[in-house]
Amino acid sequence: MHFDAALVRKYDQFGPRYTSYPTALQFSTHFDARCGADTLSVSNRADAPPISLYIHVPFCESPCFYCGCNKVITRDRERAWVYLAHLYLEIQAQAALLSKDRIVTQLHLGGGTPTYLSDTQLADLMRVLRQNFNMRTDGRQEYSIEIDPRTVSADRLSVLASLGFNRISLGVQDLDLAVQSAINRVQPPETTFNLIDRARSLAIHSVSIDLIYGLPLQTLCSFSQTLDRIIEARPDRIAAYSYAHLPHAFKAQRQIRLEDLPTPEVKLALLEMTVEKLTAAGYVYVGMDHFALPHDELVQAQLNSTLQRNFQGYSTHAHCDLIGLGVSAISGFDRAYSQNHKSVGAYQRSVALGGFATERGVYLTDDDCVRRTVIQAIMCASRVNYSEIESRHKVRFVDYFQRELKQLEPLAYDGLVVLSPQALEVTGTGRLLLRSVAMIFDAYMHIKSTETAQPRFSRTV
Ligand code: SF4
Repeated sequence: MHFDAALVRKYDQFGPRYTSYPTALQFSTHFDARCGADTLSVSNRADAPPISLYIHVPFCESPCFYCGCNKVITRDRERAWVYLAHLYLEIQAQAALLSKDRIVTQLHLGGGTPTYLSDTQLADLMRVLRQNFNMRTDGRQEYSIEIDPRTVSADRLSVLASLGFNRISLGVQDLDLAVQSAINRVQPPETTFNLIDRARSLAIHSVSIDLIYGLPLQTLCSFSQTLDRIIEARPDRIAAYSYAHLPHAFKAQRQIRLEDLPTPEVKLALLEMTVEKLTAAGYVYVGMDHFALPHDELVQAQLNSTLQRNFQGYSTHAHCDLIGLGVSAISGFDRAYSQNHKSVGAYQRSVALGGFATERGVYLTDDDCVRRTVIQAIMCASRVNYSEIESRHKVRFVDYFQRELKQLEPLAYDGLVVLSPQALEVTGTGRLLLRSVAMIFDAYMHIKSTETAQPRFSRTV
């Protein structure tokens, strides 16, 4: 991969992260709870894929000022029991419609803060999941949980491992105390490193660290030190996200002083330094913000062409049906996406009425499906083989995407892609700008005016 600052600056634009296609902006409230239930039933076809479960735990003890997640800030632990009671209703309703022979091969607890739940609550949740779903237990299952290191001691990590979690993701963002204070997330580095150390002695196969560049008071010097210390700890995966300052959309971000944010030039330099340091340290750039050590399953999945992009970022399990449970959770199937209500109150009222909490969604057209395959190939493999699209979707690529291939010509001229009669290949320079390439195949980007679409998305850098 080659970092070209001038090109990154030129193509830095607002755009979707393509965790789905069509993106959530296309979801409609015409798609209701009945549609959600029907979609789940229909998914039980003879060649139905395995299941990936996502469970959203929305609670956090205090707000991190950069955060754009769907969350509820509360110290009232009783709310978690009430929420779990409703989550169990949803689990039972969904499981009742799912063929019992469909195996759950992947589980991900995200938030909010899943570790806001006590050990007792997490054990209870796992018990209910095992009672209702056919959870894989042959050692090849992936059970992952997002951990706020402020809520988990090394000893508590042992409890999580005993509950079956074999992959963890630690929210770190930055180790510098001034930056941590500016984002209202003071987290002594030792808490993070103790957890990484303990994970190695447990049956935890993958440790992932989340960092953010572009945070208030971040400097090249301070972030360089953060990167060095994280690299030294050798987590299997590192996600380095760009901070998207969208205070009109996320209230907590209004606490961040504009004058404390790095300038665009510094932010670009932070990205360049991150890419250079991580790749020099042996991390492989998987795509959109994600780096992993060569032995990691993400890198292996990319080599085997089984890498997939979904609502959790990159995933090793291609072709799973995704069932999202809990407030705001998104489900994804072959021909449909659906999303639950985004407020805890509306979510709980809806599941209390009928078990489902679908608020909106979308059925995919044939055109959506072919474009989704192309966008997945760009985001995961950095390459689109025309013949694969043609045999899967019964279209002639160069005819179907005549307009898009024309639009790619300036990107080819700039060295972001190479176009041949057989394939589109994203170059080493273009790999940092994957979504700029993917956006060309997004039919909805052509429909919406740039002005209306812009504020809903983050920028590339
Ligand atoms: S970053 Fe995580 S812990 Fe912080 S407020 Fe957001 S969801 Fe909660």
